[in-house]
Amino acid sequence: MSAFPRLGSLALAAIGSLVLSSCGKSSSAGAAASDGKARVVTTVAMIGDVVGQIGGERVKVENLIGEGVDPHLYKPTASDVKKLQAADIVFYNGLMLEGKMTDIFVKIAGSGKPVHAVTDSIREQGSYVMSVSPEHYDPHVWMDVTGWTNAAGDIAGSLAKFDPAHEAEYKERAATYTAELKKLDDYARTSLASIPEKQRVLVTAHDAFNYMARAYGLEVRGIQGISTESEAGLKDINQLVDFIVARQIPAVFVESSVPRKSVEALVEGAKAKGHQVKIGGELFSDAMGTAGTYEGTYIGMIDHNVTLITRALGGNAPEKGLNGKLK
Ligand SMILES: [Zn+2]
Repeated sequence: MSAFPRLGSLALAAIGSLVLSSCGKSSSAGAAASDGKARVVTTVAMIGDVVGQIGGERVKVENLIGEGVDPHLYKPTASDVKKLQAADIVFYNGLMLEGKMTDIFVKIAGSGKPVHAVTDSIREQGSYVMSVSPEHYDPHVWMDVTGWTNAAGDIAGSLAKFDPAHEAEYKERAATYTAELKKLDDYARTSLASIPEKQRVLVTAHDAFNYMARAYGLEVRGIQGISTESEAGLKDINQLVDFIVARQIPAVFVESSVPRKSVEALVEGAKAKGHQVKIGGELFSDAMGTAGTYEGTYIGMIDHNVTLITRALGGNAPEKGLNGKLK
């Protein structure tokens, strides 16, 4: 929080532009703060993790949106604005994920600072990006490892452009990380394909899993729409209950960044119709696990989701996942 909340954004903008002008020169030369590290500010931690993997010791990464927080609804605080203004380079997801932060990104980019949406290049490809309506993209690209590998490539390119002296280093780390992502992608494909076909259905609280479903052959049913801004209607719940009972789906899932109550309503509804469906566990959708744990990395997050879904729906995956590191 700002020490002077009533001074509002004008005062902050003034502070910000001072910071900007004093960092401007060194930023373009690629050497930033006094410790020599580029100050990178990101929105969601999935981006921050990849920036850290590729930037290594050359970057100091700060994520604005924390564990268990819904990015669709996130409004930047005064302190976030300060951090964005003080950053050397800013990465966000784009595709309208951070819907309430658009204005501040435009403003920061307008000041000449590099501000990158990591999904820009796949959006430009056209056919990859999914939509929920003509004017609303589906932003949850990280759920498909291939999509996020593409974002990692964007991040590597942006870091190299920002700091060309160390381009080779960024490329090398990106190649190493991409190889790990390839293993993760293979694991996801093999594991999820082992679920009996009729039960290869992911029922969860909001539509964060469309990219995952397309990439790995799952059917996906969400209780809420694409954004958690809309309340789930009773009618949607009842329709989904009928589907679960008809297909004898063994498990439904809760998510770390959305309330459990809608999913619990499904379990109760199915029970009333004589079908026991269990809560298969908590998936990471729009936020990763605790920083410093395996689940607090992008690879750990996806490993957790894939392993949990596979096992709960009757497929084969090792209890501790791809790397034997799951809790
Ligand atoms: Zn979401």
